[in-house]
Amino acid sequence: MPSKMDLATKLLELQQTFFPRSCSLCREALNPKQEIFCANCIEDLPYISHSCIRCSEPLLTASICPECQKDPPNYRQCISLCDYSYPISLAINNIKKNPHAPETKQLSRIFSEYLSRAYNDSNMPEIMIPMPAHPLKIFSRGFNQSYLIAQFLSINLENTLLRNDICFRKKLGKPQRMQNRQQRMKILASSFGVKKSSEIQGKSLALVDDVVTTGFTAKAVTANLLQAGAKSVDLWCIAKTSWHNYSSSIKM
Ligand SMILES: [Zn+2]
Ligand SMILES: [Zn+2]
Repeated sequence: MPSKMDLATKLLELQQTFFPRSCSLCREALNPKQEIFCANCIEDLPYISHSCIRCSEPLLTASICPECQKDPPNYRQCISLCDYSYPISLAINNIKKNPHAPETKQLSRIFSEYLSRAYNDSNMPEIMIPMPAHPLKIFSRGFNQSYLIAQFLSINLENTLLRNDICFRKKLGKPQRMQNRQQRMKILASSFGVKKSSEIQGKSLALVDDVVTTGFTAKAVTANLLQAGAKSVDLWCIAKTSWHNYSSSIKM
């Protein structure tokens, strides 16, 4: 008797025969396992090859950027799959709008392979936590895209447990620009909370987000997780805006 997996593959093959799909970027025919980008376009994505080892800012060589030398982030390291530029910017837009966006699955799968290589299958964080969204935001959008990405990541990263019940957002809104950096960080940090802190005591964590812009929100969440007893927090994101593309970034 064929397994569920065999049947799913067969169905995909039939779908491809009768309704052929093509790559959303180059229109090349897709094979049944490719969700939206073909192999060539996947190869050409704006991956970050050399970057700051703390914040993932693209650099000419892997080192520590001037910003992190001046003011190191509270998270241990940020690992980003791509630079926030076309076509990743378009993909992120779809990921934020559509809970069934094929980009979420395909980019998360590629990212999980990237993470396995980055950690060399050792010292992988023990727990992954999706960037929490406020209940009103989840209600209006219908989903939390960071949770969806984390769900796909956890399929391949079996040693990292997905927990969506640890960190939560209790306040909406952003601090005023008039306030200084420290005050804004304090206010933003108070927008988040941690439950069941005994379960993250001494553990290494990964905070999962779709896109990281300034890293300000990630630092606020990290402050809460460290205060609750976490040993370390790494930041994982599909895309990171760099200094050259802050102005074109969207944070919806
Ligand atoms: Zn293509
Ligand atoms: Zn840096």
